[in-house]
Amino acid sequence: MHPIVKLQKDWFKEGHTTSYEFRKEQLQKLKKMLNTFEKPILQALKFDLGKSEYEAYTAEIAFLKSEINDHIKHLKEWMAPVRVKAPLTHAGSKNYIMKEPYGTALVIAPWNYPVQLAVAPVIGAVASGNTVIIKPSELTPTVSWVIKRMIEQYFPPHYIAVIEGDKEVTQELMDQPIDYVFFTGSVPVGKKIMEQASKRLIPVTLELGGKSPAIVHQDANIDLAAKRIAWGKFTNAGQTCIAPDYLYVHHEVKPKFLNALQKYIFEFYGEESLLNEDYVKIVNRSHFDRLSSYLDEGNILAGGRVDSMQLRIEPTIIDQVTWSDEVMQEEIFGPILPILTYDDLEGIINEINEHPKPLALYYFGGSEEDQQKVTQSISFGGGCINDTLYHILNPHLPFGGVGESGMGSYHGKASFDTFSHEKSITKQTTKFDQKFRYPGSKIGLKAIKTILG
Ligand code: NAD
Repeated sequence: MHPIVKLQKDWFKEGHTTSYEFRKEQLQKLKKMLNTFEKPILQALKFDLGKSEYEAYTAEIAFLKSEINDHIKHLKEWMAPVRVKAPLTHAGSKNYIMKEPYGTALVIAPWNYPVQLAVAPVIGAVASGNTVIIKPSELTPTVSWVIKRMIEQYFPPHYIAVIEGDKEVTQELMDQPIDYVFFTGSVPVGKKIMEQASKRLIPVTLELGGKSPAIVHQDANIDLAAKRIAWGKFTNAGQTCIAPDYLYVHHEVKPKFLNALQKYIFEFYGEESLLNEDYVKIVNRSHFDRLSSYLDEGNILAGGRVDSMQLRIEPTIIDQVTWSDEVMQEEIFGPILPILTYDDLEGIINEINEHPKPLALYYFGGSEEDQQKVTQSISFGGGCINDTLYHILNPHLPFGGVGESGMGSYHGKASFDTFSHEKSITKQTTKFDQKFRYPGSKIGLKAIKTILG
């Protein structure tokens, strides 16, 4: 066994993580750790991804602090056993569900929000009483280094440890007797993780990606739709799992919408976004080259320029794109927005349903009937009506995918539940013993038929 896995499993069995007081204290420590390491975190995010202080603080540190506060506030209530009702056959007994930690959890993180996505699952794992091993992304090495240092300063390795490295390290960890795996990353790697987990029947949460559509219908508030789509798409230079990947625009409102979109891109990033210090870069050359190749397709309406030294790509809108273009074959994960035009809502619902279930979907339109039609007839992880990304910021909404975009969910109580096994208990009375269940009971079959129908 890997020495850290053995250390954690042995320590877990000693029962240190059971009490409410212990878990609350660890959540408070996590918050203190984020405060102490705020500056190194912001610097590392700037160095690896070119994130501005505003984007880095709001999407990574503030998000985590709010998640920790929510967990501290509700911890006692979430930990409490849940009493349930029982049928007449169980008269005299008490029935309840205990929330039990799995043991040692492995959190595998991607690079796009490298602090948030490495630490947010840890909050749930700690609240539920697990020990945790974090495997940060190797593509943001400075952030990975900071995560290791801050965890080591605040937590002993038998409780929370960071193991840095690439896919070989991840595969080695996946061969260990881990009790729960929480993976955030791409669909192809998610499939490999699930395959490896199946060998030991390790339960998994898979937070994956895919192509998330946004739809702008003819009765939408066009200006606001353009503003919110520009924000949702180009934040983090489009390297957001729930960013609108591509756009369906109703042909009647297309010119007005595209004008407004261009206006907001300039307002947010300036006419020379490549020179804007706050505009995030592409994580590495191979992603930069992959994204740049899309710029040969369709008709570029805005943006399209690149800085190959700084790995920056302008916020780009590409028109006249079809489903057979390369840009529509896989998740874009960059600041390029292909536009598809439509006349008939029914038609695009069918088109979306012919593709893998998206992680997110955004519908812009005024009619309640159409809003319901879209949300009821397309299966997707989660999303917004008349907004983008905002659903992820509500801790009362579980966040996760469905089908190819993932399985399981987290944030708020969903995080606590994800890292807890629900153990069902019947506490039977010894004051009396109903006879009907035993062989030879004269009233047995009749009683069961009466009670159970
Ligand atoms: P990735 O799948 O390449 O890597 C994720 C993690 O898996 C990394 O820690 C990496 O070291 C490890 N890994 C890579 N290849 C592996 C292999 N063959 N075997 C075992 N482990 C391996 O993903 P990424 O490029 O870091 O992140 C981008 C992807 O993540 C996008 O698809 C995006 O949509 C998705 N994502 C999803 C969410 C979500 O919450 N659903 C959030 C952020 C990113």
